[in-house]
Amino acid sequence: MVRLNVLVVDDRPENLFSMKQLLESEQLDVNVETAESGLIALEKTLKTEFSLILLDVQMPEMNGYETAELLRGSKKTKFIPIIFVTANSREENNIFKGYESGAVDYLFKPINSHILLSKIKVFLDLGRQKKSLEEKTAELDIKIKELETLKHELELKNVTLEQLTMEDGLTALGNRRCLDITLDAEWVRGMRSKQPLSLIMIDIDHFKLFNDTYGHQEGDICLKRVASALKTTLKRQCDIVARYGGEEFIAVLPDTDSEGASQVATRMLHAVDLLEMTHSSSPTAPNVTVSLGVATVIPVKNSLPEFLIKAVDKALYKAKNSGRNRLVIADDVSVL
Ligand code: GH3
Ligand code: MG
Ligand code: MG
Repeated sequence: MVRLNVLVVDDRPENLFSMKQLLESEQLDVNVETAESGLIALEKTLKTEFSLILLDVQMPEMNGYETAELLRGSKKTKFIPIIFVTANSREENNIFKGYESGAVDYLFKPINSHILLSKIKVFLDLGRQKKSLEEKTAELDIKIKELETLKHELELKNVTLEQLTMEDGLTALGNRRCLDITLDAEWVRGMRSKQPLSLIMIDIDHFKLFNDTYGHQEGDICLKRVASALKTTLKRQCDIVARYGGEEFIAVLPDTDSEGASQVATRMLHAVDLLEMTHSSSPTAPNVTVSLGVATVIPVKNSLPEFLIKAVDKALYKAKNSGRNRLVIADDVSVL
């Protein structure tokens, strides 16, 4: 059982003594503290948490009502139940005064110990219930905090997972899923804003020959370097370049017209050139080169981004057929 603290306040030591004895002999499982004045009582409530105060009304200096008034004024003590102990006959006046200060009950002298104990038991039961509720609430609070921490950790993990599934493992660029999601979103945005949307498709020239010459591992390194070179050419926050598959990449450039997109494509061509990665078996150049297709359209309803991909693929095909290491701008983009 939870052990509760009870404070008995009376200016007469003999009253304190007998009250303490009575309470302690009744196996109420309480700690009884005593105070000989209202002031001492107030002091004690600062140090100890009491579940009940038995408060003598007639005391010199500060009487019981004044003490109760002060107890009600403090956050820590305002909810402690008080039983006023008074020698006054049941004068309406005093009872009213007591209730005004927030009293919860009255006992009249001479004290009938039977009544006293039954009243006290009621308050102690309430006090125990309150305490156990407080403990349970505190446990719940801890559990809620733990759950919140777990939830936060889970969210962080989900973000990482989400990133992983949006990211190409080799090049750390966006993957095909990322490309699809971005393109769909930009398509809708372009439809609303009626602004041009451009794509650049980039394909490494004679990459099969590169792998054959230097091995697959070197091929992977080449892919990574080309990927980061391509990424450095993008200046706007909303531009992305993703790995479309194998040695093919696609850049999505929102709010960008054909001229702007071919500027970016030209920068890409140079950026790969600047890597100066030897490709001795390439019939096109002594170094690794790329071919690029560029296509631009103002997205319209009843059409799909796939049409734009088809157009950019066709432009890339033309770049390959007309000698590689160059860019070709699609001139007949039809998305209907
Ligand atoms: P083209 O100039 O016409 O594009 O010729 P290509 O050899 O680059 O094109 P092709 O499509 O014939 O070959 C692409 C090669 O890219 C074949 C494949 O082995 C290689 N490849 C695709 N993905 C990877 C990869 O993740 N790592 C490596 N090392 N090679 C890859
Ligand atoms: Mg290819
Ligand atoms: Mg290729």
